Amino acid sequence: MRVVVVGGVAGGMSAAARLRRRDEGAEIIVLERSKYVSFANCGLPYYVGGEIEDPAKLLLHTPQTLKAALNLDVRINSEVTAINPGAHSVQVTDTETGEAYTLTYDHLILSPGAVAARPPADGLDSPRVHTLRTVDDALA
Ligand SMILES: Cc1cc2nc3c(=O)[nH]c(=O)nc-3n(C[C@H](O)[C@H](O)[C@H](O)COP(=O)(O)OP(=O)(O)OC[C@H]3O[C@@H](n4cnc5c(N)ncnc54)[C@H](O)[C@@H]3O)c2cc1C
Repeated sequence: MRVVVVGGVAGGMSAAARLRRRDEGAEIIVLERSKYVSFANCGLPYYVGGEIEDPAKLLLHTPQTLKAALNLDVRINSEVTAINPGAHSVQVTDTETGEAYTLTYDHLILSPGAVAARPPADGLDSPRVHTLRTVDDALA
């Protein structure tokens, strides 16, 4: 059985870890479009505020540690651009190389999160105004 999880950070990783505990034999592939698969969201404001100085301290897991601990096939820089439910497949694009491929699944878990809301207030479109949701947001 192959399970494909779209979105790797909080919800997607919880689902993948729980599934591994319930089924040792499942093939679990996690597709995450960013460079980071596991980071401490609650630490981001502390990095922006200067209390955490090294951004590496925000990172909790890498694809390698998740392979070793839970036998997960975690693919970062991997954006799902289309779902074909009839064929049980997703289209995946490598965000670094632009290479695309089709991946079939038996079960699909969608956990793509959200984007920060921007209320219609004057000045919010300034490049000096940021939202804070990801490691890249914090670095910016
Ligand atoms: C600054 C900050 C501080 C927080 N502090 C706390 C706290 O102290 N305690 C607490 O309980 N919660 C906290 N939260 C909330 C918590 O981080 C979120 O509730 C949680 O991350 C939401 O999980 P999620 O899986 O729904 O979304 P996310 O964690 O956003 O994960 C979704 C992932 O899906 C990926 N994705 C989206 N579309 C695609 C696609 N097409 N293909 C591949 N990948 C895709 C995204 O890149 C993203 O990494 C905080 C959040 C923020 C922003």
